[in-house]
Amino acid sequence: MPLLSPSHWEQQRPLAHYDLLVLGAGFVGLWTALHWLKRHPTHRVALVDPLPAGQAGASTRNAGFACFGSPTELLDDLRHEPEETIVARLHDRYAGLRQWRETFLPEELDWHEAPGHEVFTPSQTGSYHEAVDSLDQLNALAQRAGIPGVTYHVAKGISSALPHALSIAHEAGLHPGKAYACLTQALTQAGAHLHRGVALPPKTTWTKQAKGWQIPSSSGTWTADHVVVASNAWAKECLPELDIVPGRGQVLLTAPIPNLSFQGTYHADAGYLYFRNVGDRLLLGGGRNQFRAEEETHSGNITSSVQDYLEDYLREILLPGLTVSIEARWAGTMAFSSDGSKQAYVMNLGDQTYVAARMGGMGVALSPELGARMAAMIPS
Ligand SMILES: Cc1cc2nc3c(=O)[nH]c(=O)nc-3n(C[C@H](O)[C@H](O)[C@H](O)COP(=O)(O)OP(=O)(O)OC[C@H]3O[C@@H](n4cnc5c(N)ncnc54)[C@H](O)[C@@H]3O)c2cc1C
Repeated sequence: MPLLSPSHWEQQRPLAHYDLLVLGAGFVGLWTALHWLKRHPTHRVALVDPLPAGQAGASTRNAGFACFGSPTELLDDLRHEPEETIVARLHDRYAGLRQWRETFLPEELDWHEAPGHEVFTPSQTGSYHEAVDSLDQLNALAQRAGIPGVTYHVAKGISSALPHALSIAHEAGLHPGKAYACLTQALTQAGAHLHRGVALPPKTTWTKQAKGWQIPSSSGTWTADHVVVASNAWAKECLPELDIVPGRGQVLLTAPIPNLSFQGTYHADAGYLYFRNVGDRLLLGGGRNQFRAEEETHSGNITSSVQDYLEDYLREILLPGLTVSIEARWAGTMAFSSDGSKQAYVMNLGDQTYVAARMGGMGVALSPELGARMAAMIPS
């Protein structure tokens, strides 16, 4: 049945008043709401999202890496940021992954822990050696971030195409669709209301009231004491003052491969390529850096340029000589800054309005901790 345009009656009706209204039901909105309900269990919380049940912007379309930082990513960060900033972000990511594991069972999330790897081609031997020479420094940073044991090690290369590798302890792969289902179920059980098919308009259309905000929508008028904008790549539509640039991420998934040698999570090309096993299938994603201008888009469609690039890497570097078919391809939208800053927005904007957005390519790991931080900023 095609979607109907809203009637006058549907648009012009007051809806229930909420203590907290969250705009965007991705991982960040969901974790924020869950943490706030833990603090205020009797309060009324609603989340709205234009997408149908089970879908979110990036949260149900990502690669499912439960990871916190590869060696070359950290080395690159060290060139631009003070150590304290890097340690704090590592802490948030690692603590976020622990929250997933402490809140849900491994089988609920399809959580498979195996050391992650960063892999290097022969032409990347220089950056491999730079990373090897820096392992003590990187391990010290990880320890300061609360990550136990020694995180980064020299590992065996994978093939003649990828002769160098470093291993990363505590990494895992998860099933983002199942993780999303776990979170929405936990929220519903905690009493939150999840409204689908609702896109809230920009803040300029909201009306300030004695008690919070009144927000018009095609489903009726929402009122809430506090409003959190957690719409990630779309947050700028609501709050134009934010510095948010969309970044499309594309992936492909192979058909089952007998005796697949790749088991676990792998980072390549300074983090711009990533692959992992999903059972006996191989998931490969990334390549955004090769097509920057065309990938700065909100479009969730795949493109032949990026998909061909991924497929070339799959056939030439990962599985040379093997005939394998591609079973699925998809894209999702991330949120970045225009100046390369990795700092996420977790802010009280005043006037009972808040923003939790711009998670880059790390929102699986960041969302539990940053959701908790956002919730702590919102009074009852
Ligand atoms: C291909 C790909 C691979 C990735 N791989 C990983 C990975 O392996 N590990 C990792 O940690 N991270 C990964 N990420 C990043 C991660 O998925 C994101 O950082 C994270 O999901 C962001 O969560 P979010 O809740 O902020 O945003 P989203 O999940 O995008 O949710 C925002 C929601 O806001 C809704 N919205 C938009 N406009 C409105 C409106 N007007 N009103 C109401 N709601 C609105 C959207 O519909 C959307 O559901 C990947 C991302 C992609 C695209």
